[in-house]
Order: sequence, then structure tokens, then C-alpha cells
Amino acid sequence: MAKRDYYEILDVPKTATAEEIKKAYRKVALKYHPDRNQGDKAAEEKFKEAAEAYEVLSDSQKKAQYDQFGHAGMNGGGGYGGYSGGGMNMEDIFRNFGDVFGGGGGGGFDPFETFFGGGGGRQTRTRGKRGSNLRIKVKLTLKEVAEGVRKTIKVKKQVECGTCHGSGAKDASSVGKCATCGGSGVMRKVTNTILGQMQTTATCYACNGSGQQITKKCTSCSGLGVVYGEENLSIEIPAGVQDGMQLSMSGRGNAGEQGGPAGDLIILVEVEQHPELEIDGQNLIYNLHISFIDAVLGSSVEVPTIEGKAKFKIPPGTQAGKIFRLNGKGLPAVNAYGKGDQLILVNVYTPTEISAEEKKLLEKLRESENFKPKPGAKTEKGFFDRMRDFFGE
Ligand SMILES: [Zn+2]
Ligand SMILES: [Zn+2]
Repeated sequence: MAKRDYYEILDVPKTATAEEIKKAYRKVALKYHPDRNQGDKAAEEKFKEAAEAYEVLSDSQKKAQYDQFGHAGMNGGGGYGGYSGGGMNMEDIFRNFGDVFGGGGGGGFDPFETFFGGGGGRQTRTRGKRGSNLRIKVKLTLKEVAEGVRKTIKVKKQVECGTCHGSGAKDASSVGKCATCGGSGVMRKVTNTILGQMQTTATCYACNGSGQQITKKCTSCSGLGVVYGEENLSIEIPAGVQDGMQLSMSGRGNAGEQGGPAGDLIILVEVEQHPELEIDGQNLIYNLHISFIDAVLGSSVEVPTIEGKAKFKIPPGTQAGKIFRLNGKGLPAVNAYGKGDQLILVNVYTPTEISAEEKKLLEKLRESENFKPKPGAKTEKGFFDRMRDFFGE
């Protein structure tokens, strides 16, 4: 199919000024805009045709060439063969739109965006590189685990440069178009396939998709937008965390370069060992050692708990291996209601060295029927049963 005359496409006389050509193109482009002509192939062709016409007529050099040689002048000699292979690319058309509609900054009208319906075609432009994640270790006491805690920790990390406020540029006038991608933020690659030309796009490596390039760097941060500094981080640690758990706070890690988003703060929880209490999931275990006399007669003892020392009554006739339970004196769960218990495991201490007098007393007691074990009677569970109770097997 023969190409239509560019002036005819835009409906302007050959004498039209640059401004008139621009106006005419705007009119035609809006008329055949894909958004207004969904799925209409003919309109799309007209839209592309107009873009091609404008591309040539808006460029004085190309226009002169066209005026002299017509379409023939476009495909050959002038090194302007771009259009012969399958017409203009939609992305290019929309990019050039910016100039025609005065867009490109704050205008709010971005035909490119509307054409691709948001999510699909183009990646959201992010300035700069995302900051890396920052890992810190936080040591917690059992009490802090039980109650939750807010800690303020001074950490060394990448922070936003105070001089340029993260942009990396010396001042507002030292930001220009990226030279690598021409300001589009994307790199395009055209490959020839049997179905025609295929175009793939990738984020520009030089500007990370921002389309901008700093011409004069901020001297405080050498253009990175971040400096190595310190920050007091206030960290909220919920009750019930466990040793080895990792908490993540998004956006609290290292600041991103040149205004990029900050990384995350990863907090590794380390629970300090309590000298007397052992952690078993949400339960706490305390190994109580009493004399066999206290086991027989009963006694009042002190046991450590998270909240401090507590008085505890050992009833007379307590068997070795008995487990007492302090309900709700264990640890909370991080994602659940309720608390674990504190378990008091009774161990009966057997003296290894005794005096002759003590020996005499004990031998006397040995004769007593009451001191002889009665297996059939009410006994405590055996060792293995207790272990099974502990570990829930
Ligand atoms: Zn700076
Ligand atoms: Zn670029």
C-alpha cells in the first residue's frame, strides 16, 4: 500500500508553521487515540500514521528532505529507514507525546500510562537503588520476653544525606536526562523473529529506571544520596518472642541510594539464659531440690519466677518427681492469647556423707513401716512418664 502524504494525514498545507503542524497532530492523535478506539485496528493505523507524519514534519531536517524527495527520501539516502520495517512503535509514539501535550512533568496527562492501563506495560519509576537490609541482634531477658519491650538501639547504617536530602544532586539544576536511555528509564531491544519484530524492554541500568542523571554530584555524599551514619532506632518487641526468631521492620534498614526506598530492618532475637529457669516452649521449668525430710514433713520454699522470688508450699508427703504447676506464670505466645505455666519439678536430695549420729537416726527410721515404699499405693509417675509429659510425647 502506498504511503499517504504526510501533509494530507495531518490535514495541513505545505506552508504550515511548526506550531500549526503540532496543533494538527494533536487533533488527529486524540481522535485516533487507542483509548478512545479500543480494538479498532483502522484507528490504530491512523494513529501510527499520524505519529510518523508528525515525527518527520516536526523535524526541520527531515521535513526538508521529505519536501524535496517525498517518501522516497525517507527510506533511503537520509539514513532514515526506521519506518520501513513495520511502522512506528507505540512506546515511541507515546514518549513523543510528552512534547506535544506539554506533559512529562506534573501535567497529569500521561497517554502512555493510560494506554497500558497502569499495571502492565511500564514499571513504576523508582528513583535510585533500594537500600540493603540491616541486620541487628537484640538480647532479651526472660522478663522482657514475658512482657514485651521497647528498645532504643543506636545502630550504624546508611542514612539519608542531609545536604542533598537523598537526591545525590548538588542542587535542583544538576539533574538531567539519563544519557544511556535518553530519559525514558527503559532500554529497548529489538529482535527479528518470523512473526516480525519483537521488542523487549528492561529497566535502564544506568539510572535504575528514573530516566534521570545527576550532572553535578552532591559533595557531601559523592552523589550517592546516602552517608554512613548512626541512627537511634526505636524497636518494639512483642511479648512472647523466642530465641532465634527474626522480626522484620520494613523500611527501617539502610537508606536507598539517590532517593531509593530503604531496606528492611531484620532483628534477630536472642534470649538470655536465666540462671535458674529453663524455657520449654511457653512453659518455664524450675528444678527444685528439697531434702527428703522436707518431702516427708512438708515445707515452705522460695522459688524463682519471672517476676522474682515467690513463696511456695511443699505439702507433706511430696514424692520425688512431683511436678507442681504455677498456672499462667510461663511465657506468652507471640501470636496467641494465654500464657504458659511455670513447672516446679521436685528433686529429693540424697546426702552422700553423714555422721555416725545421723546414721543411727536414719537406721532407726528404716525400721518404721511408714518409710518402706509402697508400689501399689498412690505414687508419682516414674521418670520416663515425666519426660513424656514434658515433651508431650
Ligand atoms: Zn548528598
Ligand atoms: Zn537511564
